[in-house]
Amino acid sequence: MHLFSTLFTAQSVDRDLRNEEGISKAIAWCKASGLNKVYVESFRGGLFIEQELLEAVRDRFLAEGFLVHGCVTPTGLPKVSNNWKDGGCYSYPATQELMAQIFRRTAAVFDTVMIDDFLFTDCTCEDCDKARGERSFADFHSDLMHEMSVRCILRPAHEVNPRCKVIIKYPLWYENFHKNGYETIRQTRDFDLIWAGTETREPDSERWGRYPQTQGFYMMAWDVKLGGGKCMGGWYDPYTTTPPTYLEQARQTILGGAKESMLFCYRALSEEQPGMEDTEALRKERPGLLKLAYLTENKRIVGVSVPKKPDVDAEEERYLSSFYGMLGIPVCPEVSLDENAPSAILGAQALGFAGIRDYALDLQERGVPTAYSAAFLRKTGLAAAGAPVIDPGADNWTLMDMEKGALDALRDALTAPLGLRFRAPTRVALNLYDQDMEVIQNFLDEPVEVELDLFGRDPKARKIALVLSEGRKVDLAREGSLYRLTIPPRTLVVLN
Ligand SMILES: [Zn+2]
Repeated sequence: MHLFSTLFTAQSVDRDLRNEEGISKAIAWCKASGLNKVYVESFRGGLFIEQELLEAVRDRFLAEGFLVHGCVTPTGLPKVSNNWKDGGCYSYPATQELMAQIFRRTAAVFDTVMIDDFLFTDCTCEDCDKARGERSFADFHSDLMHEMSVRCILRPAHEVNPRCKVIIKYPLWYENFHKNGYETIRQTRDFDLIWAGTETREPDSERWGRYPQTQGFYMMAWDVKLGGGKCMGGWYDPYTTTPPTYLEQARQTILGGAKESMLFCYRALSEEQPGMEDTEALRKERPGLLKLAYLTENKRIVGVSVPKKPDVDAEEERYLSSFYGMLGIPVCPEVSLDENAPSAILGAQALGFAGIRDYALDLQERGVPTAYSAAFLRKTGLAAAGAPVIDPGADNWTLMDMEKGALDALRDALTAPLGLRFRAPTRVALNLYDQDMEVIQNFLDEPVEVELDLFGRDPKARKIALVLSEGRKVDLAREGSLYRLTIPPRTLVVLN
């Protein structure tokens, strides 16, 4: 069963969970929200909670029937990065000593400890500059964070508690991993479990990167592939969201294959806006989300192969790979080059693979339908040879204005080998599971009419298996393998 959980930040543990009134209120809120698990944070912003309180809080939540894990957010460290006040300088010996102390204490109390996605550094201070030798700062940050993770996190945690599983959470901002020291190959190998940040927030929000909703799905599914069984869940928050976008985060997290949804965090959701409004919406949708998880959990995501190389940051067309979903292209995220891909999109995110030209040429030779991004062709010197080219220019969102004829041609070329044809405007997504389940999401604020011809998929007649949000009405008409649907605004429908 899919789990829902929340986090008590160290500040919240300190303020809310020291007294009976606060802890009872928190327990009641978690129960009303249908949560199965809580994360109790030992450290954040320099505040380090004492072991006795962590144990008391743990025991109280356990007694109420919750699963209880620990969490650490490495901010407010003894020396901060010279480039960002919330980041740490990990060359500094006192930072390393404190990290080891934090993980010894936290692992002594909890059998599972998650690390919020501040486990990175952009520090270029004199000490870091000296320590890097002739490595680039990007390579140095990656080596430093990897080596520090082994020495100051995993070893101390496992020494104190050999049962302790430490979870590294990778952020949503996947184009800055290597530069800032998220070493997804070595760290995934060494950490016990991994987690995915799926907090796309409001797509129009300049402050948070203007990420498309489908990035939550892309990153969740990519992390599941990366983890090879180690990826347990997704994590999102309410910042700048409205209830529709908050629910869309929840849906992408499940569609991408999360076993658990971590709702950051108790304080933001229980006493701040928009968190309180989002919570109301999520409580209503929770049964539907559980059903969505039930329908998809034992199924395989299939679709157009979109590879992104781990530990390589694209320098241009950044985050382009997570926009294809907004074009109604059923995407299958990959961490490696799939030799059996039915069709593929090769963009800047695939440039780091060794032998990428050989792979592209092999697809061409075998007639596997492939689309390329403009930067991919320029950087590899390959020719499109009549294949569709995706050129977002400086702003990926301009793809939403793609002309209908070009959009249909792009989609039809890529989906023909999947046995389907899809007709919908941009901002309507299609996800495929095995040969017999399709999920369509309307991210528009108006109803939309779509056509889905499943000429080469499992021929069984599709029915509407689920509509989110509940109470909305989706019209479905069928003629042979062709389905016509009218989907209300901000609505998800599962055909099965
Ligand atoms: Zn430094």
